[in-house]
Amino acid sequence: MGSSSSMARPKTADPEKKTTEATPASTAPPTPPTPAVTAAVTAAPDSPDGPDSPAVDAEVDANAAAAKELVQLATDAMRAMREVSDGSSDVSPVEKSPEFLGELDCVQCESLLFEPTTLEDGSTVCRPCVKKRRLSTPAARAELWGGSAPGLGFGTAANVILTDLLERCPAEQAAAAEARQRGNGLFGEGKYSEACEAYSEAIEYCSSPDIVVLCNRSLARMKLEDTEGALTDAQWAVAKASRCSGPAMLAKAWLRLGQALRSTSSASAAFALALGGADVSDGLQELCAKMSRSELQQVKDWLRDGRCPGIEESLPDVQMDMDKVPNATFDEDWLRSQLECPLCLGLLWEPSSIPCGHTLCRSCLARTLDHAFDTSPSCPMCRADLSGYLAWLNAQAWTKGSKAKLTHGSAQIPVNRQISAIIEKYFPTESRERQKQIAMAEAEAVGMPGEAMNVPIFICSMAMPAVACPLHIFEPRYRLMMRRCIDSGQRQFGMCLFPGAQFGTMLHIQSFKQLPDGRSQIKTIGTRRFQVLDWGEKDGYATGRIRWVEDTNGVSKQDGTEATPMTSAVRLRKAVDSLLKDRSALEEQLGPMPSTDGSDGPSCPAFVFWCMGLADLPPRICYELCFGETFREDAEKRLTTMLEIYEKKIRAKPNEN
Ligand SMILES: [Zn+2]
Ligand SMILES: [Zn+2]
Ligand SMILES: [Zn+2]
Repeated sequence: MGSSSSMARPKTADPEKKTTEATPASTAPPTPPTPAVTAAVTAAPDSPDGPDSPAVDAEVDANAAAAKELVQLATDAMRAMREVSDGSSDVSPVEKSPEFLGELDCVQCESLLFEPTTLEDGSTVCRPCVKKRRLSTPAARAELWGGSAPGLGFGTAANVILTDLLERCPAEQAAAAEARQRGNGLFGEGKYSEACEAYSEAIEYCSSPDIVVLCNRSLARMKLEDTEGALTDAQWAVAKASRCSGPAMLAKAWLRLGQALRSTSSASAAFALALGGADVSDGLQELCAKMSRSELQQVKDWLRDGRCPGIEESLPDVQMDMDKVPNATFDEDWLRSQLECPLCLGLLWEPSSIPCGHTLCRSCLARTLDHAFDTSPSCPMCRADLSGYLAWLNAQAWTKGSKAKLTHGSAQIPVNRQISAIIEKYFPTESRERQKQIAMAEAEAVGMPGEAMNVPIFICSMAMPAVACPLHIFEPRYRLMMRRCIDSGQRQFGMCLFPGAQFGTMLHIQSFKQLPDGRSQIKTIGTRRFQVLDWGEKDGYATGRIRWVEDTNGVSKQDGTEATPMTSAVRLRKAVDSLLKDRSALEEQLGPMPSTDGSDGPSCPAFVFWCMGLADLPPRICYELCFGETFREDAEKRLTTMLEIYEKKIRAKPNEN
């Protein structure tokens, strides 16, 4: 009863009946082979428990459920094994693998890169591994803007830096990688015998056979019905992978072992297949159908323990060759010269590989792409067209950006993980130094909060506190400025009406929409006014050392005694209301109408600024009302001036009603 209650099935009123349905009865007559199951190896005729009753739906369901349950138990077992080995549990196989990899290994096949090419997610794989990687990792498959743009070219061109580094690998390793890939090609053509020879050749080149090659030769030997050979290769693969490989590779090794074992012992095979993450096509379900209840229970117990005694005894001792040999040895000066950015000539920082195979610092690449508004962007090294790449980056920013988390196209540039890791490994000090330098330059560029602070200044229009200011950004220098505002998390910049102006208003970025060609639409709202103490310049745009300015009078609320400004504010509100046709459309444009309850001062400055925005006054008059000393010292005067303007408007308005 224990086995039926742990099945992933709802309990029914008649458990006895369910049990008979769900459990294969060993006395039942044999079933014909199920055509849907395409296992690599067919079940041996002397399978200990003969197949069961005719394949009624309920039984297929039960076998599927049993297989599913085994796989679930196996997932837990794998996680437990990982916890024991490194103390971490919730790491996906793809994220986990790199630490087991040599610096020039492919993230897909975990062997030495062969014809390295970089993909959309910043990972570099062998060219023959591209298809598999994209199938297993959605991020490695670019979806283009509107789905209609031509291919970006990722996964085709050789990565220039990594190709150069691979040439420094020992000749045997390169020859082994070549033989392995040749074997894969032959296997794909169905030439299993030749594939086996190529794999054997690859194994001969290396003092310590590669897990991938062992797994592949195991499969090829199974195709050739060399079960014994397949089993030996798989045993080596499991023994090695459990010592020195990531969970993805380990699962692959278990799967091969399970496939090799299928003809010999169903319980051990089920254990191995389950750890290999087997699905229907790997025959785990079919195997479950052949197992007795007690055998099924045995497999579950093994999976809960994370070990199967029979298999463990059969694994070879691989203690000897566990040390991960480095892929290559580099002369430090030579390596350093390979890792230099062709644009800034510094050590690559956040190395970003573009589809043509060249690599630049992420920030250098972003600056190159900024110039896409007057010419189409191209690789500074080979002039390859990057407009599709730019559109792809911007499309991602468009979909990912939200009110809470603004993002821009350049933030989507994938960083080449392998090259990053190489820089980290060989030049850690210089790399940290570079990071510090860049962080400081960025912080300086965006302004640090403080009494006298430096801020980037956009010179464009009259902005006022509490009034929205939508902007269309297309100039390269302002693209850079906006990127820095967003990346720094400050989300603000100064706005001045004209170059050299004495005053301006800070704008807070409320939303940022990245357009396909690199332009952007942003919504901002005015916050505080400032005085520019000194003007400066940074990478083409203006900056200013500023101090805040406020109204010096009428700021504090004084209960009862300040009746006059409040009355004026109420009158102004009435005047505005009488002129307003569509308030919601207006608020869309100007931002929400501020309150007239005097909460921001008896002269309701925010409301008055909003009315100034609404009144469509000449910018110079706005400038004076907003920043002029007269009005800053007497906010009530600003209010009454606006009231006069509005009352004049009303008088001028033809009487409609
Ligand atoms: Zn590969
Ligand atoms: Zn650079
Ligand atoms: Zn290029």
